[in-house]
Order: sequence, then structure tokens, then C-alpha cells
Amino acid sequence: VSTSWIQIGSVLRDIMPVIAGEALLHNVTVSWDETLELPRVLADGEMLKQVFLNLCKNGIEAMEGGGSLTVRGSVIRAGKKSQVLVEIEDTGPGIPAHFIDKIFDPFVTTKQNGTGLGLSVCQRIMHDFGGSVAAVPRSGGALLQVVLPC
Ligand code: ADP
Ligand code: MG
Repeated sequence: VSTSWIQIGSVLRDIMPVIAGEALLHNVTVSWDETLELPRVLADGEMLKQVFLNLCKNGIEAMEGGGSLTVRGSVIRAGKKSQVLVEIEDTGPGIPAHFIDKIFDPFVTTKQNGTGLGLSVCQRIMHDFGGSVAAVPRSGGALLQVVLPC
């Protein structure tokens, strides 16, 4: 994969119109602070878009009858290493604890017309760029975290 320095904020900005359209169809409100300055990461912008789109779409699809989707970005500093954290949170039913380890496996889906490939693709892409994607175990809606070195 070819990589270049990509501004995470601009990746999120680019996909927001698509997310907003999808959200409108599902009675979901989206909150995202677009003024937030996020660092650059070494990655492929189109692939990052695919990851964030997948995660946001999953969140929206999980909220039957509507809800809210929140996208947050922040920087984690640990000594010399810095990482950018993007969190995607929804107010849907959440992911049962016993299921959290399974959702990244290919072909695992609970949807009638799901492929179960979205999260496995997200995971592979994040690994390619030295990052990770994980679902945080908790009660309440789902929280997905994407981490990338920056
Ligand atoms: P698909 O969307 O085709 O089902 P994914 O790999 O994107 O495949 O997701 C796998 C499964 O993980 C989903 O079918 C769903 O059961 C679960 N899942 C993913 N994101 C969420 C979420 N935000 N809330 C609840 N369940 C989720
Ligand atoms: Mg999906």
C-alpha cells in the first residue's frame, strides 16, 4: 500500500456528508467537532475513509428508531510516542461482551443482508498502517476506537 501524510481531520470532513445523509435516513443525529485540529498520520486517505465510513455506518445501522452518533478525535501522548485516537460512539443497544471478540472475524454478521466483512476489512487496514481498531466493552451503546501512530 502506498502511504502519505494524511490529515485525520480532513478524512473525517470528507466523509461527513455521506454520514449525514445516512443518518438522516435513520433518524440519527450526528455530532462531530469539525474545528478540532488533529495531527497527520502516515496512511492511505481512501482506505482511512473506508474504515471510518464502515464504523459510522455500523453505528447508524445499530440504532433502530434513531439515536445519536458521536465522532471524537484526540491525541494520546506517551513519552516520545504520539497516537491519534478517533472514537465513534452510538446510542444503540451496544455489543454484548461475549460477542466483542467475534465481530472482527470475517463473515460474522447479525444483519439479514450483512456481509460481516466491514470490521474485518477495517482491522486489516488499521494493521497495515501500524494502528488498531477495537470495540470497548461496556454497557450502553457501542464505542469503537481507532488508534494510529502520528
Ligand atoms: P456487517 O455490518 O455486514 O454486519 P461488520 O463486520 O461491519 O459486518 O459488523 C459485524 C457485526 O458486528 C454486525 O453485524 C453487528 O452485529 C456487530 N456490530 C458492529 N458495530 C456495531 C455497533 N455499533 N453496535 C452494535 N453492534 C455492532
Ligand atoms: Mg458493517
